[in-house]
Amino acid sequence: MRLVVVENNSSDTESNDDPVVGNISKLCVVPPGFSGKPRKGNLIFDACFESGNLGRVDYITDTEYDIFIRPDTCNPRFRVWFNFTVENVKADQRVIFNIVNFSKTKSLYRDGMTPIVKSTNRPKWVRIPAKHCYYYRCPDHRKNYVMSFAFNFDKENEVYQFAYCFPYSYTRLQNYLENLDKRELSFYKRELLCYSVQQRRIDLLTITSAENTRRNQKQRVVFITGRVHPGESPASFVCQGMIDFLVSSHPIAKVLREYVVFKIVPMLCPDGVYLGNYRSSLMGFDLNRHWQEPSPWAHPTVYATKNLVLDMDRCEDIDLDFYIDIHAHSTLMNGFMYGNVYEDITRYERQAIFPKLLCQNAEDFSLANTAFNRDAVKAGTGRRTLGSSLDDKSHCYTLEVSFYSYMVTTSSQALPYTEEAYMKLGRNVARTFLDYYKLVGYISAKPSSSITPKSNRHAEGDGSRSERGYDNRYTTDSYKGSSKQSNSGATSNESLLSYRRDGRRQY
Ligand SMILES: [Zn+2]
Repeated sequence: MRLVVVENNSSDTESNDDPVVGNISKLCVVPPGFSGKPRKGNLIFDACFESGNLGRVDYITDTEYDIFIRPDTCNPRFRVWFNFTVENVKADQRVIFNIVNFSKTKSLYRDGMTPIVKSTNRPKWVRIPAKHCYYYRCPDHRKNYVMSFAFNFDKENEVYQFAYCFPYSYTRLQNYLENLDKRELSFYKRELLCYSVQQRRIDLLTITSAENTRRNQKQRVVFITGRVHPGESPASFVCQGMIDFLVSSHPIAKVLREYVVFKIVPMLCPDGVYLGNYRSSLMGFDLNRHWQEPSPWAHPTVYATKNLVLDMDRCEDIDLDFYIDIHAHSTLMNGFMYGNVYEDITRYERQAIFPKLLCQNAEDFSLANTAFNRDAVKAGTGRRTLGSSLDDKSHCYTLEVSFYSYMVTTSSQALPYTEEAYMKLGRNVARTFLDYYKLVGYISAKPSSSITPKSNRHAEGDGSRSERGYDNRYTTDSYKGSSKQSNSGATSNESLLSYRRDGRRQY
């Protein structure tokens, strides 16, 4: 272990202008004038690990420290994600940490979000109680928004870790995929799509049954990507939930594999994930603004993914029905979607169908937050670029999920997301494809596979309509009657009906 002892003098205001570059490595923060070996209680900070982020720590008093997020590599504009450890604590040592250099002022901290913490012997992440956490404009920091939290290091020999949200590293994904490989599932394939700038794998997963590829019909493809924004770790939990469901023995998953090809690129910015960036790649690019003309050397992961998607779109034997890119949102609650605005009214209305179906299946999904837009700031995103280049029967969405919490209709209190709740959203997205394909008539209400609705009632999710509704076609009447949320989207029942009557892709 390399130990660096640094004296910090908080009265030296000049030092506050130093650029924050690398991650802190086993830094022991001691009072001004301190010399000699660190004692117990001289806190040692570290972020030199995968997805770690901590740029600088200033000693204010024995009980108070200013914490600086390390900006994204080659892009100092982004400072949101943090993830660091603290050790060498005394039992019951109380401290206040002030995180002082966020790049955004609007934040879920205003809505009660707090940092998460775990420690050596308590490896499950928990949220710091809201009553110990304050978000405010601070006169001591040029009126920047500062998030302060009080914490009690209760045990002496523990290493404590603090983070913005549940980390999901590149290595974690690789381990997860290696375990999937070991199962040798006949309907699952993992390929190398390309390498990132730092030579990390961009995996391409294909999930479909052998029967589906043998059938003499066009392949219906659902294309999913995630983690183009490296700090948006909830996207990886949603994506894993989706994969877990699609490879499971759940009857819905079996039917979906029989009729649909799922193509999944789980991590588009593995270098940024590894480095602990929030928004940027190694070279400082927001990859989700480079879909229009991705460069093979600067944005190789987007370049390869875009080419694959366009190739599939051009292929006569493929209908690319969905492109969905998974993100996490730093200011809004719930899961929700962004879609595009199209001149073609039918297309515009058709794309409201999937979010509405998802809302029936996922209690944390909000139609109110779902929006279709063409903001200039979103130009160059996967959703926008592919929305204007793909066949007009394709649906392109961004799936967002809150970094913090969701509201359900049965309660007035926001429920904080957990890793499991994010994965559940992924499972619910996956099974909604069956509702969609039944609605458009591609999969019949009674598929050839034996589905026994009663026995799987409680198998997954919240026992919602897709598990109850096998015997009924998804009629527009029942759709209207069971809608949990107000009809804020643009799709009328009439247009749903007309889609079923006129949809090109009916079989
Ligand atoms: Zn994002």
